[in-house]
Parts: sequence; C-alpha cells; structure tokens
Amino acid sequence: MLDWNATRALNISAGLFIDGQWTPGEAGASFSSLDPTTGEVFARVTEAGASEVDGAIEAAARAQPGWAALPPAARAAMFYAAAELFIGRQDQFAQALIRETGSGYGKAMFECSQIPIALREAAGLATRDIGEILPSQVPGKYNRTYRTPVGVIGVITPWNFPLYLSIRGIVYALALGNTAVLKPSEDSPVTGGLMIAELFADAGFPAGVLNVVTTSRDRAPIVGDAFVKDPRVKVVSFTGSTKVGQMLATACAPIFKPVVLELGGKNPTIVMEDADLDRAVDIAFFGKFLHQGQICMSCDKVLVARSVYDLFLEKLVAKTRNFVPTNPAEQTCVIGPLINGRALQRVEAMVNEAVAAGAKVHCGGNSRGPYYEPTVLSAVTRDMAVWIDEIFGPVVTVTPFDTIGEAVAMANDTPYGLSASIVTGNPMLGEMLAERIHAGMVHVNDSTVHDEPHAPFGGLGASGGGGKWGPKGAIEAYTVQRWIATQREPRTLPF
Ligand code: NAD
Repeated sequence: MLDWNATRALNISAGLFIDGQWTPGEAGASFSSLDPTTGEVFARVTEAGASEVDGAIEAAARAQPGWAALPPAARAAMFYAAAELFIGRQDQFAQALIRETGSGYGKAMFECSQIPIALREAAGLATRDIGEILPSQVPGKYNRTYRTPVGVIGVITPWNFPLYLSIRGIVYALALGNTAVLKPSEDSPVTGGLMIAELFADAGFPAGVLNVVTTSRDRAPIVGDAFVKDPRVKVVSFTGSTKVGQMLATACAPIFKPVVLELGGKNPTIVMEDADLDRAVDIAFFGKFLHQGQICMSCDKVLVARSVYDLFLEKLVAKTRNFVPTNPAEQTCVIGPLINGRALQRVEAMVNEAVAAGAKVHCGGNSRGPYYEPTVLSAVTRDMAVWIDEIFGPVVTVTPFDTIGEAVAMANDTPYGLSASIVTGNPMLGEMLAERIHAGMVHVNDSTVHDEPHAPFGGLGASGGGGKWGPKGAIEAYTVQRWIATQREPRTLPF
C-alpha cells in the first residue's frame, strides 16, 4: 500500500489504474495536485492520454460480462470487504482529504463516515429484484420484465467531496453488474480516484471492474469526449458544474446516450416567523459554512420573515464572527481554504461587485491568502451575481420577506433546484411549503446540506437530471429494462 500521506510530495506518476494494473501514462507526462492551504505539491499524478482512456474503456468492457455473471453473494462480498478495509484506512483517507482538498477534519471525517454505509448499501443491490411479472389483457400471455446491466459507465467527479462523490458515482452501478472508468477531478486525483482504486484492488474486485484515469484540467475533455463518443460506454455519469454538465449533455443528445447529471445549486433556507431563531442560525450557519461553502447543497440565500429579520441577522453575524479561517491541519478548523486561487478570485469578485452595487457587508468580506473570511451580506438585489449565481464559497446573503408567497418566489428565483430548507415551529406548515419549492430535496427544520446514501439524491432544472443517486435511482439509471412476452396458448389474431 502506498503511503498517501508521505510528508514529501507523492510521486505516483506511474499510476493510472487500468485493468487491475498501475499503468504509466503517455510519454511519462504528469501533473500536480496541490495542497490548497500551503500551495505545495501534494502529489505528482500521471497524465492520461487518449490511448490510456481507450485502454481503460477496453478493460472495463472486457471485464463486464464476467463480473455480471458472478453470483450476487460473490459481488456483495467484495463491497463488504471494501467497507471493512476502508474503516481500517479511514484516518489515512481523512488526512489525504485535508491535504489534497483543504477539508476541515470534521468535514473529512463526515465524508469518510458515508463510505462504509454506501459500500454496504451497494452490496445489498446485488440481490435486488431483477424483474417482474405483469398481468396481460390477452389470455395465455405471460408478460415479464427483466433488468440487465447497461455495460460500461464513464464517471466524472468533482473535488469538493471527492471521495464520497466518486464512491457514490461507482458503487451502485458496479453492484448492478456494470463496470466503470472513473475520472476524478484534477484537484483531487488521489482522494477522488487513486486511493479508491487501491482500496478496490485490495478488496478483491477483479481486474477491469474499476479503472481510474487521471488528467489535468486541460486534458479533461479527452476523457469527456471518449465517454460521449465511444459506443462501449453506455452511460455517462457526471457530478460537477452546470456548465460542464450542459456541455456533456449536449454532446450526448444527438447520439441518445444517457447522461446522469448532478450539478450546481442555489439553495435557500427560509426562516419563518415562528422559528426557534437560535436553531435557525445554527442551521443556516452549518448549511453555508461547512467546507467553506464549497458544497453543491450549500445555502447561498437565507430568507427571513421580516418580523424576526433584524434579530436573526444579528445572531447569525455574531456567530459567524467567532469563526476565523484556519489551517485545516488543526483539528478545530471549521473554515479552511478555498480549493484554488481561481475559486478565491471568483468569490472575491462576486462580493466586491455586490458591495459596489449597494450590498452591505456585516462581517467578513475579505480575502486572506488561501482563505476567504466567512461573510454575511444583506441588501442584495436580483441583479447581483451573489443572488443569481452559485457562490461556492463562504458567503451568505440574508433577505427579508413579508408573505409566504414572497418567500416561495424568492426561493424559486433561480434556474437551479437542488436543495432547500425551511425552519419553522410548525412542521406541517414546513411540509406544505416544501412542496412549493422547486428543489429535488427539501429539509424541514434541518440544513440544506444533508445526504444519506440510500436516499434519492438529485436536483431539478439546472441542478441536474437523468437519474437520482442512491440504490433505487441506480437501478433506473444503470440497468436496461426489457419486456419479454410469451404467448403460451394460441391467440386468435384479427387477420
Ligand atoms: P467542474 O465542472 O469544473 O469539474 C467537474 C469534473 O469535470 C472534473 O473532474 C473536471 O476535470 C471535469 N471536466 C471539466 N471540464 C471537462 C470537460 N470538458 N470534459 C469532461 N470533463 C470535464 O466542477 P468542480 O469545480 O470540480 O466542482 C464544483 C461544481 O460541482 C459546483 O458547481 C458544485 O455545485 C457541483 N457539484 C454538484 C454536486 C451534486 O451532487 N449536485 C456535488 C458536488 C459538486
């Protein structure tokens, strides 16, 4: 096993994981995965070219029939083995998440806690129902449906929850008898790909079932292109920005290739007049500032009933002022660095533009090295980017509303529709309101940031489509359903 947390930069430039082997890339090219806190090289990682991507797809296609033909208990055993192995390696994974992606310790451990759950959920899928018998209007006809694996899936994942999102992207599809080629983000090739490849190899998954190819940002389109155009890849699974997701979906459309998309969000928390305000502040704070706001479900806008607006704002600002960004190597870190300079500049520009247009900064509002101060804004208007675009940083806007209709309209004032939350003393009202919010997931009296591996995670509108995550969604997305009908008795035909 590699020492993924060696104090010096890892040199793993011999390491694409193809057909069960660590394989050198094209002409020995490599790229750097940087530690966002220090800017130092965390790992030198192999750069895949078109021929390695082709090799990975070929290996997956070759392995798939044998993998699907294994008895379900044999497939399930490997997921259980991976879960056990993972628990033993959890600290290594957590440390690597901290160094490679600037995760705070708490966030890294939270991310790790989801992995054994997802692996065991996947194991359960191996013995799911594979078909059904339907009645027929025609005497003597037997209607049956069958589900079979689609074949090879191409999976592309982001850096913000790299370990969980890559695991989530592959395990259910594999459990259903598919094989995969995974391309993690250039910002998290180790935690989003290579450590997972090693885990799966050690857990006994056969060669070719999971293949991992890594590329720099510039070369990511080589993988995207291959996933779209190669007929051996049957479904493209993408988690990341709406912009890249839209590009992949557009490329897949003319050839009718299914694409499962989990994209960005612009997630509201609505605080009702009857809410417990301290609880509402905790919910909004967690929903915004976990992982510095770099989560697809992060709460960008808090909408507060006008009668409690001033008090809520005061309490949220007081709480936020207590959190100073720190190095995530410190276990107490809540607010760590942004992933890279590009992200930092984006957030800085959004806030500066809003302030220039009249927004008020209650706390934060400054960039400090790799960190952006946790920031609370008010007096935000519809023409500002902080209202329209996904912020993906530690900045939250707080806006009053006068009527429930106005709260719903402001919550829905976005093409996105991923997550939302409602804080109220009246859970029944919360549920009724939830039905009016355009979001795939609404949490009453909890944060916008919540996921459970077995639940149907997914967004509406610009937040994605084509399938839900979790075991049930995977059955729809990664199996082909066919109807086979047998006429057991002669049937009288009209001519
Ligand atoms: P991104 O879209 O920039 O990158 C995601 C992945 O796509 C990376 O692996 C990247 O290398 C790859 N990629 C980039 N260009 C490509 C191309 N032309 N062809 C093929 N692949 C390409 O997103 P990011 O910055 O890594 O992640 C942040 C975004 O992801 C945010 O918008 C966030 O909301 C979203 N996200 C969504 C979910 C969800 O479940 N809905 C979860 C996490 C993150």
